Amino acid sequence: MFASALRVSALAFNHYSTGVIPMSSVERVYSYSAVLMGSPILLKLFEDNQQAAQAVFHLIKQQEDMLTVNRAHSQLMTINHAAGLHPVVVSRPVFELISKAKTVSLMQDSCFNFTIGPLVKRWKIGFHGDTVPSPAEIQSLLPLTRPDQVMLDPQACSVYLAQAGMEIDLGAIAKGYIADRVRDLLQQMGIHQALINLGGNVLTLGTPRYGDQSAWGVGLKKPFAAPDALIGIIEVAGKSVVTSGIYERYFEQEGKIYHHILDPETGYPLDNELLSVTVISDDSVDGDIYTTLLYGMGVKKALHYLTTVPHIEAIFVTRTGQVILSSQRQFRFTLQDSDYQLA
Ligand code: ADP
Ligand code: MG
Repeated sequence: MFASALRVSALAFNHYSTGVIPMSSVERVYSYSAVLMGSPILLKLFEDNQQAAQAVFHLIKQQEDMLTVNRAHSQLMTINHAAGLHPVVVSRPVFELISKAKTVSLMQDSCFNFTIGPLVKRWKIGFHGDTVPSPAEIQSLLPLTRPDQVMLDPQACSVYLAQAGMEIDLGAIAKGYIADRVRDLLQQMGIHQALINLGGNVLTLGTPRYGDQSAWGVGLKKPFAAPDALIGIIEVAGKSVVTSGIYERYFEQEGKIYHHILDPETGYPLDNELLSVTVISDDSVDGDIYTTLLYGMGVKKALHYLTTVPHIEAIFVTRTGQVILSSQRQFRFTLQDSDYQLA
């Protein structure tokens, strides 16, 4: 039997929405859940280790407090508030993460743009008050989304947004980064078999401990279907599985869907043949970055691009019901839903 991470999490979160609560010991799996970063978080261990679970949730909260833009105060918000005024000294890890986000944003034809903040704030997709902005509003905000205008000083460890009104948004990378920090912490605590699901970013440590299972089963969600409906199962050991999809956070207006991954060129949600992109990689931060990057490329360009980055593998789900795998070196995929076909 598979440990279908996403299915288990859906069940678990219906019952418990806050706190660190051991939920089951079925097959000696201990699941702990909390809602942090606006997402359900699930930790699975093979021992009842409340202390480890507390430490993990504490770490996630600490990281969220540094990186969030959904509250008035965080290291990131301090940078945003000082846009056009002065540089802000941040902690070394935050500086490094911002440097990484800048590098990826400046790659040729990258649709990843961590200075997309002003547009994200205006669209408010998935939050109260989300509406389609006027074309004039979009045009007025686009000049504020210039990654080259984020000035980094590695000596001072400071970040300066050169124009007033600019805003960094690490929403497309923070969960992956934090998942990797959770892995580091678990390893430091001597835990080498575990699964953490940070609202869709799944990171597995080692193999599960049920019978002779050599891989974790992670469910690939079926877009625009019941929360526990799956297209298929991804089997991995010691890997990260990150999915970005247009069905995760969106609103509908006049029959059109507006989802939360924006095209930095146009300022509107990315519009192509894709419903979701899943990335399988060692580090979750890479998974988070590449889901957005590959999304923007579309299937053809992405498949070509992936031949140059062998440590990254992807699963594309298209609007026409195709499931396309770039390669299958680090995982196995089993299709389960007859509405979809392997291409
Ligand atoms: P999630 O896992 O929450 O679905 P993603 O990794 O798909 O998140 O990133 C989406 C989030 O990233 C958005 O909610 C927004 O904060 C931010 N974002 C939107 N468009 C872009 C973009 N083109 N580049 C970088 N970040 C983006
Ligand atoms: Mg992402």
